[in-house]
Amino acid sequence: MNAPSVPFRPDPSWSASRPSRAEAEAAVRTLIRWAGDDPEREGLIDTPARVARAYEEFFAGYDQDPVEVLTRTFEETDGYDEMVMLRGIRLESHCEHHMVPILGVAHVAYLPDRRVVGISKLARVVEIFAKRLQIQEKLTAQIANAIEEVLQPKGVAVVIDAAHQCMTTRGVHKSGVSMVTSRMIGAFRTDPALRREFLSLANRGE
Ligand SMILES: [Zn+2]
Repeated sequence: MNAPSVPFRPDPSWSASRPSRAEAEAAVRTLIRWAGDDPEREGLIDTPARVARAYEEFFAGYDQDPVEVLTRTFEETDGYDEMVMLRGIRLESHCEHHMVPILGVAHVAYLPDRRVVGISKLARVVEIFAKRLQIQEKLTAQIANAIEEVLQPKGVAVVIDAAHQCMTTRGVHKSGVSMVTSRMIGAFRTDPALRREFLSLANRGE
């Protein structure tokens, strides 16, 4: 057992208790007042509705099940046993501590056993998990664990390199800093040559 169990499926009981759009817009008006401005002035009057719509995009991942996406599309294969890698996947997420953007790239690879999946589905899995409130470590593990669970490959590797706006635009104000996290499962953990091959491809520039 090498993968920690990180819950990552949508929880229907949560969706059922979601506030209405009107309640969400009222909350945005409260935050505008908290920031020190007047939500009724002309420039801000439509802002709560826009923010609510933006949230529907930013957090669309809660309504989607990455395991289901992979399960629906994998194909059985005989014989292909080389690494499959999707490199430089654009990553847009939001940190769960400050709700500001995390922007970066993800590199995802697996060593198939019997099942393969279209590479666009790997990007979809990254996107579904990214469009939730996240910390980068959890995001990295969830992507790897979902691929592991469905494809049951010989190994999975995920590296994420991302900048956190909660570090660059507030707090310590450190720009040009990125955080790198990785999760290696199976052969990527036990086979140094395979891991090196993956990391050298990941580091080859965008
Ligand atoms: Zn943060």
